[in-house]
Amino acid sequence: MSHKGILIVVSGFSGAGKGTLMKRLVEEYDRYALSISATTRAPRPGEEDGREYFFLSREQFERKIADNALIEYAEYCGNYYGTPREYVEKELADGRDVILEIEIQGALKIRKQYPDALLLFVSTPSAKELRRRLSGRGTETEEVIDRRLHRAAQEAEGIEEYDYIVVNDDLETCVRELHEIIDAAHHAPGRNEEFIEKMRRELEEN
Ligand code: ADP
Ligand code: 5GP
Repeated sequence: MSHKGILIVVSGFSGAGKGTLMKRLVEEYDRYALSISATTRAPRPGEEDGREYFFLSREQFERKIADNALIEYAEYCGNYYGTPREYVEKELADGRDVILEIEIQGALKIRKQYPDALLLFVSTPSAKELRRRLSGRGTETEEVIDRRLHRAAQEAEGIEEYDYIVVNDDLETCVRELHEIIDAAHHAPGRNEEFIEKMRRELEEN
């Protein structure tokens, strides 16, 4: 079926496991290209510039906005986050499925610009488990965790905008479900117009 690259947006509450899931997904299947965002937040211990994010100053980030070098950007809990244009356009043109792990304001901007994009939302099984994972990660203060949980409550209002919701309970099950949903999207008639046209032509000639 369709070998055209799909633009995939993955959002979800902070701490739901998006980063962990995306890492597993690209390890397991080589058709996915994971976009690396730019951000003004400080790196967490273990994060490297150019691997998890491109870590920029506010001035550098604002320069990217002015240069139209980002396909979307948003402010989240006091920092800028945005998607560099060049990588996404190149990988899609090469026929790869490009994954953007971004929050909801960015997701809605992508949907407007790329109506064919597939929007997936990742949740934990419960709010209690969300807090447990955020605390367990050990990378944020209690104050930041509270801000992120407050933000999660707002984001929950927008889940209906997404095409699919996936619960990250068992990690490997969730990775498989995400892959299956994306795989199914390649079979949509709207993404296979060339094949359908070819079949119609052949049937008429028959
Ligand atoms: P996000 O990118 O959505 O903010 P992370 O990938 O950083 O979330 O995951 C948050 C924490 O939850 C990490 O400590 C991670 O190891 C843990 N985690 C992720 N997925 C699972 C899972 N399925 N079960 C238990 N813990 C998980
Ligand atoms: P974190 O600080 O936990 O890495 O990310 C905070 C939030 O920003 C997450 O919801 C993440 O999905 C989102 N995010 C990361 N990169 C981007 C981006 O390029 N654009 C937008 N709009 N959100 C992003």
